[in-house]
Amino acid sequence: MLLAEQAGLGGKAWHGAVLLSGIALYFIAAAIFVWREWRERQHLERLALTDSLCGLPNRRALHVDSAGQQADDAELAIALVDLDGFKLVNDFYGHSVGDRTVKAFAGILLELCGDSARAYRLGGDEFAIVATGPLAGNILEGICRRVLARLASPVMVEDRAIGLGASVGLARAHAGQGVTSSNLLRQADVATGVAKARGKGRLTWFSEEFDRDRAEHQAIDLDLRAALEREELQVHYQPLIDSGTGRVTAVEALLRWERPDGLRIGPDKFIPVAEETGLIEAIGLWVLRRACRDARDWDGIKVSVNVSVAQLRNTQFPLQLGQILEETGFPAERLELELTETFLVGDPLIAGRNLEMLRDFGVGIVLDDYGTGYASIGFLRRFRFEKLKLDRSLIVDAAGDAATRTVMASSVTMAKALGMQVTAEGIETEVQASMARNAGCDQMQGWLYSKAVPAAELERQLDAQNEQLAKIEHLPLRPDAAKKLG
Ligand code: C2E
Ligand code: MG
Ligand code: MG
Repeated sequence: MLLAEQAGLGGKAWHGAVLLSGIALYFIAAAIFVWREWRERQHLERLALTDSLCGLPNRRALHVDSAGQQADDAELAIALVDLDGFKLVNDFYGHSVGDRTVKAFAGILLELCGDSARAYRLGGDEFAIVATGPLAGNILEGICRRVLARLASPVMVEDRAIGLGASVGLARAHAGQGVTSSNLLRQADVATGVAKARGKGRLTWFSEEFDRDRAEHQAIDLDLRAALEREELQVHYQPLIDSGTGRVTAVEALLRWERPDGLRIGPDKFIPVAEETGLIEAIGLWVLRRACRDARDWDGIKVSVNVSVAQLRNTQFPLQLGQILEETGFPAERLELELTETFLVGDPLIAGRNLEMLRDFGVGIVLDDYGTGYASIGFLRRFRFEKLKLDRSLIVDAAGDAATRTVMASSVTMAKALGMQVTAEGIETEVQASMARNAGCDQMQGWLYSKAVPAAELERQLDAQNEQLAKIEHLPLRPDAAKKLG
């Protein structure tokens, strides 16, 4: 007041100045409030777009980013990176190490993407990488290849070396193609599924054909469920011939499916679908029950049933098999289960334990399709199968190639040394038969002898064989024939 009076200002002017500074203060306070609100909102939005565990942008951020980019950029390419066997890391080391592994992998992605692409965590063990621009696809593929190469050595999580693998699916679209980012992500997801199915640890670009395959798979799956209910599936039996006596001593149960429209679908087509959807467990038990019932009266004949990896992974499987044996009264010693070496895929511990439990019942365990994969001597020594089945491809190649013949002969010698019997599969010609016999195979299976036939037809074959044997038994035996019949 004194100052104002000294400055020669009147009372009115003083009031005006106070009013003005009041208004200014009000605006400043309001601006601070709005700015704080804005900052808070920004922070929340950032949180909503960020993965709280590893700090990478999340799935929402990917959609926000790619929706903005697609309009003007020449190409948008998305890679979906799925860690293989991450569940094992969690199960084995616990969730806290699992979380730190996710963080370590996010760090690898950030480093390898640099400024050329952006990495996201979609959840769990799923990550995405997005590149945009004229060469987006090529750049992205280069980054993904470097990610896979980096995972060839273990990832260090504190002082632990963790072995990780990844399956990568990629998809790309040009601006103007009208493909949305969610559709592109779906395509990358489909491609990842294919990469996994082709053996993991690999990179696969999406192709329209994958969608067609999926549609076909879905159609087969629906039809198959109905077929199971309507009992359209059948079990046929292919004889296995003893090399020494020429007699049928065992049969292999093989699934057949004839649709009401007369179309026959091969097991090679529908079993992989049933394995994918899990329906194989119900189908597999149905085949086992059917085979045990059919073969009950086939005196002295062993029955081999194919068992899929999915069945062997189920801890309930030995129990279910025990119930079937009890219910059908089929002797376990006459049952053989055929596995392929992939039975260890997934959870080798459970598969190994189940195998031991099955053995305890007294059923024989057979390694099918030997010669198509990687089964090592160590693998054979560890599991001590009762029997090894040489795959048809080995038999076909051996007929025309001396080196394959040597491989075949040494496989038989090795199997025998380990106490296993050997069956040659897919014998179509006399040449193949004598070659397999000379190599030391105990049993022959193939179209040269018989295709898989319905139970009634097999019974006729067995009756004919028994009649012939009965006739021979009533003849005075020549010494060489007696030796042959053992
Ligand atoms: P696999 O277990 O190796 O069965 C042998 C396959 O070779 C059968 O094909 C049989 O018909 C065929 N084969 C036998 N002899 C010859 C021959 O001389 N020449 C030729 N070219 N082929 C011959 P199929 O019946 O088509 O079965 C294919 C595969 O489907 C089987 O291979 C098996 O892996 C699977 N499978 C069949 N039935 C079942 C089942 O009930 N459960 C499971 N999990 N898989 C099954
Ligand atoms: Mg088989
Ligand atoms: Mg086979």
